[in-house]
Amino acid sequence: MAKGFGVVTRYPRHAEAVRPAFWEVKDVGGARRAPRPGTVPMVSCFGDNRVARAHPDWVQVGPGGMRADRTAPYFDWDALCPTRPEVRRLALEWVAAAVAGGTPGTGLRLDDVTYAREGFCQCAVCRAEAAAAGEDLDQLHARVIRDFVREVRARVAGPLYFTLFPDPYPGRLERRFGIRPAELDPYVDVYVVPLYDLAYATTYWLEVLAGAFAERLARPFWVELYALGVPEERLVKAALVAATYAAGVLLAYGNRLETIRRVEAALRERFG
Ligand SMILES: [Zn+2]
Repeated sequence: MAKGFGVVTRYPRHAEAVRPAFWEVKDVGGARRAPRPGTVPMVSCFGDNRVARAHPDWVQVGPGGMRADRTAPYFDWDALCPTRPEVRRLALEWVAAAVAGGTPGTGLRLDDVTYAREGFCQCAVCRAEAAAAGEDLDQLHARVIRDFVREVRARVAGPLYFTLFPDPYPGRLERRFGIRPAELDPYVDVYVVPLYDLAYATTYWLEVLAGAFAERLARPFWVELYALGVPEERLVKAALVAATYAAGVLLAYGNRLETIRRVEAALRERFG
């Protein structure tokens, strides 16, 4: 069975040469770039350092009042609370701009449509909303994420890609992130699972994670590999392992088009 192959890139030349090419139009720092014709725009919806700075009260709150921002031990960016209508409105504006400026039919990729970790978010808005709806926080979070994805789906022509945190352990996407794949399946065409490493010196963990997602997900998923600076033979091996379980492979941020081409050729040779 033939496998999908694409890139996540900041190089216009790569975006022209390989399709699908994913193009970040809104990142977790808060920077925005114009959509590029023919590429799939990527929008980081609820990660945004700039907005968090302007609206500190919009940041997610966890156990013991811990804030989901870069002051906490394991957050690399600031996470806004999706339960807040103003946060969702802003994210939908970014989505609309990405779609309007893009090429019809190329679709869209949603990044950071998620709650931050287990115990997040329990801010005042989440607690009030859950109480008003007669839900617990897990139910509330799953509903908010599902309804948001449904709203995005209605605005996007072409495939909708959705990035998952690479945690396939049963119940954890649901409990930690408010993501219930079974409820998102009607709206999502392809899940993207980033499995990043700087070297891919070993691949057993790739096999474990990709294999587990293959068992978990009813919809197709692609594995995204980090490509910058990874020796080519290791990247080829990692791609072959990932594609054994996934419907496609994305190479992210590689800077050598020749390497990207050779990984693609290796996949074609193995999988047709
Ligand atoms: Zn909240």
